[in-house]
Amino acid sequence: MQQFRRIGVDAGRDKGSIRPGSKGNEMKEARSAQKDAYSLLLEAIDVGEFKPGDRLVESDLAEKFGVSRTPIREALQRLETQQLLARDGRSLIVASLDHNQLAELYVVRAELEGLAARLAAQHATDEEVRVLRDMVTEDKKVTGDASTLARANRRFHHQLHLASHNRFLVQQLNLVHQSMALMETTSLAVEGRGETAMNEHAAIVAAIEARDEDAAQRALKNHISQAFVTRLKLDALAIDD
Ligand SMILES: [Zn+2]
Repeated sequence: MQQFRRIGVDAGRDKGSIRPGSKGNEMKEARSAQKDAYSLLLEAIDVGEFKPGDRLVESDLAEKFGVSRTPIREALQRLETQQLLARDGRSLIVASLDHNQLAELYVVRAELEGLAARLAAQHATDEEVRVLRDMVTEDKKVTGDASTLARANRRFHHQLHLASHNRFLVQQLNLVHQSMALMETTSLAVEGRGETAMNEHAAIVAAIEARDEDAAQRALKNHISQAFVTRLKLDALAIDD
């Protein structure tokens, strides 16, 4: 088996259900290698190592990740099918979201996350609520550094998705969050947004803890809506440059 380098894994994202193949089972090994190449590329896009517009070249990626070209090619095809990559002439580039796609994505995100919060208020165990509360306490300490905050934010939302105890919803939210990776900068990079966002997280957890479904849904939708407004302001600034 090849050793693959791991880059900052979003907790719980796309956990491999396929184990590395046993000796002599080449088909299984190939599939597992493809999955790993896919996860590696996805993570690299997710953490912003590859940004929208960046060209992805099969041979460079094979060398970078120490994987043969076939699994890289298959991973690239899969990411293109998912519209995380786009064609630019003969090259494959990391896709970017236009204004309308961004707005559409936030609408879906607000509804799905709102539902996750509502279900979490119903179904989260006391332990899950405690984990969320601890995350809020911890994350308040990291305000300031945008990329650390962005990672903490992803962890929090992922934990909240799991607390909904609805696997289909978790799957859909994973897809939404993959597309979120196609935004060049995080709204958490905006001055003051980090602290406000963490307070919004606290309000969401308080509502879940109180088992108040409506309040949890409302608090989460408000959180996403505030993030979107910040996002739009950020884009407006970028156009000015
Ligand atoms: Zn958040």
